[in-house]
Amino acid sequence: MSCLASRVAIVLAVCGLAAAPALAAQDCEGRLGTSRVMEVDPTGGLQVGTKHFPQTLDLADKEVVLTFDDGPLPGTTPTVLKALARECVRATFFLVGRNAAAHPDLVRRAIAEGHTVGHHSMTHPMTLADMPFDKAVADIDRGLRADDKAAYGVAGARPPVPFFRFPGFGSSPALLDYLKGRGIGVFGADLWASDWNPMTPDEQLKLVMTRLDHAGRGIILFHDTRSQTVKMLPAFLAALKEKGYRVVHVVPPPARSAAVPQ
Ligand SMILES: [Zn+2]
Repeated sequence: MSCLASRVAIVLAVCGLAAAPALAAQDCEGRLGTSRVMEVDPTGGLQVGTKHFPQTLDLADKEVVLTFDDGPLPGTTPTVLKALARECVRATFFLVGRNAAAHPDLVRRAIAEGHTVGHHSMTHPMTLADMPFDKAVADIDRGLRADDKAAYGVAGARPPVPFFRFPGFGSSPALLDYLKGRGIGVFGADLWASDWNPMTPDEQLKLVMTRLDHAGRGIILFHDTRSQTVKMLPAFLAALKEKGYRVVHVVPPPARSAAVPQ
């Protein structure tokens, strides 16, 4: 992706960090790495992830997108970032606004290390679809602003990364329409580790790899707030490499990144 010099500092930061490798290419030799960057246009009602939507991202066989929800939390997120950096892998984090507001340093670190930072509401209601529409919209909007304030120091009318995931995948037609109207794309998942259920890291690894081998590709959902996921992650990344999976990093198109907070 390219970044025009005329863009304001915040936009340069978003573009530059998305484009800049966390490690120099030679340092990533022999690691799992990030095989390609996929620009995902969120406009027009983007809804991806076959667990809840009919369609998903255009991934080739053995391509995966790694996503982490609910953070950041200081007890777990730094270890996730470290494991990803060790393998030169870039992921997408769907932030809970109140956690982002409490730990802006971790949000900025994730961006500085090249990851995409999307949104997951302010308070993580279970679910937004079960709330009155106005309250649900308010929680979504507060989350967008809190995430952007933490990430960039300022929050405008349009989030620079217009990617949203519903807590508990609890969407409604009205809320999907609302996000579509704002040009915000909705990410579901194609498979997950069920890491909300207590299990050992080994059990979780076996479960997610069985599901991935069955699916062959897809958007994978984890939680960077779960210690069992943190403990599993290095072995999971090693398994991806051993089995020939390739990691795809999703980013918004530059044109959308140019949405300047006002
Ligand atoms: Zn969540």
